[in-house]
Amino acid sequence: MAVFSKSKRKAQVSLRDCVACGCCVKACPMAAIRIVKGVFAEVDATKCVGCGRCVKECPAAVVAIAEVPA
Ligand code: SF4
Ligand code: SF4
Repeated sequence: MAVFSKSKRKAQVSLRDCVACGCCVKACPMAAIRIVKGVFAEVDATKCVGCGRCVKECPAAVVAIAEVPA
């Protein structure tokens, strides 16, 4: 599967445990993540391609890739 193909896999952040460090924002090649109010990271599912880079970069290990319905 090509990394940038259209995908039903999306990153999901566990908001309660996110420390808003911004590592995932820098790692995302699609600019799909932003920090909301300096408190937590939010993934724009319309931009996310499920590549998993944010999962690898998150030092708190609070991002996961989930299969979502199309
Ligand atoms: S899975 Fe990839 S495209 Fe989606 S938010 Fe994480 S780094 Fe960005
Ligand atoms: S890398 Fe992890 S802890 Fe840091 S802002 Fe992103 S989701 Fe939150």
